[in-house]
Amino acid sequence: MTYVVVENCIKCKYMDCVEVCPVDCFYEGENMLVIHPDECIDCGVCEPECPAEAIKPDTETGLEKWLQLNLDMSQNWPNVTVKRDAPPDAKAFDGVPGKFDAYFSPTPGQGD
Ligand code: SF4
Ligand code: SF4
Repeated sequence: MTYVVVENCIKCKYMDCVEVCPVDCFYEGENMLVIHPDECIDCGVCEPECPAEAIKPDTETGLEKWLQLNLDMSQNWPNVTVKRDAPPDAKAFDGVPGKFDAYFSPTPGQGD
């Protein structure tokens, strides 16, 4: 089992999650984060910290695509453990449907 970052993180990236993870397993893309599934110890601490409710346990159904994306991107994006400011328009994008098709970017983020 692991926790998975899902679609609503895209363009929200509040980063509250990175500061609470005891094993520093968040990785940063240009406009979202992912969790490395092999590093996550399933503690669940990050899930309630996400203002966008974008972290889910992979025991929920229908998350296969997101689990694969978390695995793939965590191997290409830099590790991040320090919270920075959220995008200024994060609130406007919270809950917007179709963010993956419209805005997903494979470009790596800044990292620590
Ligand atoms: S707190 Fe939620 S929305 Fe913010 S970066 Fe973490 S997973 Fe993404
Ligand atoms: S469940 Fe725990 S170990 Fe996994 S990403 Fe969240 S805080 Fe880190």
